[in-house]
Amino acid sequence: MKTWLKRLWSLPAFLLTLLLYVLQLMTTLYIASALPRGVSDKLVDFEAVWQIAQFYIGDLCLFIFFYALLATLEKTFIKKFRWVHITLFAGIIFAKLALYHPALIEDLPGGKLLLANSPIYAFPLAVILFTGWIIVGVMQTPALLKNPQKSQKIVGCAFFLGFAIYIFWALFKYDNVTIPEATATEKSKPDVVLVTLDSVNHDSFIKNGMSKENDALGRFLNDSIEITSPVTPVAQTHASLTSLLTGQSPFEHGIRYNLGKKATDPDYLQNSLLNDFKKLGYSTSMIVDSMAFKFIPPERFDHAMNPPGGLPSVLLPMIARPFLFYSLFNNDLGKIFVPSLYLNAAYNPAFRVPLFANKTLAMLSERLQQKEPQFIFLHTCAHHWPASSSYPYYAEQKDFHGGLKFSYTSWNKAARETLTTEQWKQRASYNQALYDKSLERVRDQFIDPVLQYLEKRKKNTIIVLMSDHGENVWSTGGEYPTQRMVAHGDNLLFSARSEFPLMQIWLPNQTATKHHMTFEFQNLVPELLDFVKNGNFTPKEATAGAYTETGLWVSSTYPEQFLFFDKSGGIRDLYDFNPSNDLVFVRSELDPALLLQKQRALIKNGMRLTLHPTLTGFRLFLCDLASDINCAKNLVKENPTLVKEMWQELLKQSAPDFKNGILFPMELAELDGELQPQPLWDQIKDEDINPYQKFYLAIEAYHKAKDKDLAMFYMNELMRLRLKNNFIQYRSFDVMNSWCKNGDRDLILKEWSEGTKRLPGFMQKPAENLRACLLGS
Ligand SMILES: [Zn+2]
Repeated sequence: MKTWLKRLWSLPAFLLTLLLYVLQLMTTLYIASALPRGVSDKLVDFEAVWQIAQFYIGDLCLFIFFYALLATLEKTFIKKFRWVHITLFAGIIFAKLALYHPALIEDLPGGKLLLANSPIYAFPLAVILFTGWIIVGVMQTPALLKNPQKSQKIVGCAFFLGFAIYIFWALFKYDNVTIPEATATEKSKPDVVLVTLDSVNHDSFIKNGMSKENDALGRFLNDSIEITSPVTPVAQTHASLTSLLTGQSPFEHGIRYNLGKKATDPDYLQNSLLNDFKKLGYSTSMIVDSMAFKFIPPERFDHAMNPPGGLPSVLLPMIARPFLFYSLFNNDLGKIFVPSLYLNAAYNPAFRVPLFANKTLAMLSERLQQKEPQFIFLHTCAHHWPASSSYPYYAEQKDFHGGLKFSYTSWNKAARETLTTEQWKQRASYNQALYDKSLERVRDQFIDPVLQYLEKRKKNTIIVLMSDHGENVWSTGGEYPTQRMVAHGDNLLFSARSEFPLMQIWLPNQTATKHHMTFEFQNLVPELLDFVKNGNFTPKEATAGAYTETGLWVSSTYPEQFLFFDKSGGIRDLYDFNPSNDLVFVRSELDPALLLQKQRALIKNGMRLTLHPTLTGFRLFLCDLASDINCAKNLVKENPTLVKEMWQELLKQSAPDFKNGILFPMELAELDGELQPQPLWDQIKDEDINPYQKFYLAIEAYHKAKDKDLAMFYMNELMRLRLKNNFIQYRSFDVMNSWCKNGDRDLILKEWSEGTKRLPGFMQKPAENLRACLLGS
């Protein structure tokens, strides 16, 4: 063994590998530093710790491989330490990245040629790992064979050979999707298959011609019923899927954003529409590819295929999952060693879509052959943000500013960025290209094979191809706000389109039609139920308009939000963790604050009226989505009658928030020549309003009512409450700083000194900018 070790030992290679591994660990630890409260309790649980350790051990193994490769190359070709080591090592790391993201090498000399001709790109990982392993194996075997002990020779050689075969098997096996045979089964009622693709806009599919000539998708789109404007009530997965399965609005079911606490209640989804299907003799199944969906309890379905839940889903968000590791072990054999990876939608390029498609088809085929009718809910996150795809599904377009060349994130953060209008236009068109490519991959590797199978059963199956919500990739014309990011469910202004998901329905013995109508997303399954019972499918238009609202993102996505998790406090302040079921949820005591700062809209006949908080008070924005695609022109002034009518409906549909003291009462009144909401001051009783409302009330009083004393009163009340959440304090300092600059320094100073008298220590720590303004510097 000594020769063997000597042959592999290289200090420079060791130090470089160690450095890289530590860097990787630190990145994960950085994410872990934002762990929700309660997670630490779980860390005494052996099972949970082991699940997490698997990731680190797995990663360590890959780094050992890189080390061995580097050391082997050194001993064989370089002989002694030179700078060439570092170059070589950096090269290996770059190759690892570039193999997932071909766009990275496009600009290098010969990059285009390589991309166009190299078979490497057809099987990137397999080739690099397989070749690397063979190099290590071939070069190290002579030293190994010199080992005097026979058993060690055999074990060593078997290890090299065995792993080479494993790499070959793991990475080549799952590239093809096999469509199972469909055998005819007589049933009393049609099977129902709901295929929900995460983040697919209606327009992306229909207008951008995602279907190819005569593929299964094309045939499906031609033959099915299209609903042109379904409106998802909250363009975020958890809220919208809960609406889908319950037929209720978020006000009714209580999930208003991702990871709402209600989803952790023991009775969550106990009374869903699944029961109505069960009563009709249906057997229910769920097929999902993300552990984040553990919020839909698999036990509510008769059968479920889903990745295992557990702590890794909490600790390792999709984007932080090591993609090489996922590619190598997300398979049937890897399931034995690292079960928590299995079937999981990882960081997009590493996710094995064909693997999931094969498993899905097998389960569909198994379930649909049963005698009793089936209700199957199928959800894939393969196209989810940040939509990064591997070869050949990468965008070649080059104009972008500060973004990653392979996904719609920026280099350092998933938060809003400041760009000029021109830069935004370029980024928007690049984002669209990324989006389309990612969707193409899902079409080829998932949608088309699934539809190829389902179309054989068309005679007696209801097939819905839909999405939970769309995505805001932004259109390329018109003006842009200077601060934007790609996300869904965070905006209802400008060219936002995440509220319009895809919805195509195939019903046996029904002719393909287009329903040009505003349709409430949550009414779909009740309509299907009606069809199953009575053979009717007459989707009801939301004639009064469909309500939709923004969800929640961990960092601020527009400047008007006062909960700035990116500013202070951190994600830790936002979430809580339930160790009994490994579910993360948003702390419910923050609800009043989170719900208050939502944007809310009513969509009716192609018009969108949005009520949104600003730093000068709540405002309305009306736009014509059809004629003004960027939604740049506010039509409030031109259409007072329509505004009044839609405003009344918006109030009606969001009534629970007014009733529960989330929003203060408002009325429309003239402001600078147009109708805008104003607080109904007479009806605002100090004892009724929740503390968070005081933030916007102060702003309303300052800017619209021009009552500065009242503004300072509310601001001081808010500060005196010393809400545990630092962010609201800092945000208040920001607002007061702008007032101070505006010339109200003396007013703030007066209140300040009184407040300090009443409560020693009150406002001892104003933000730097406010202090500077108050001190007159
Ligand atoms: Zn989603």
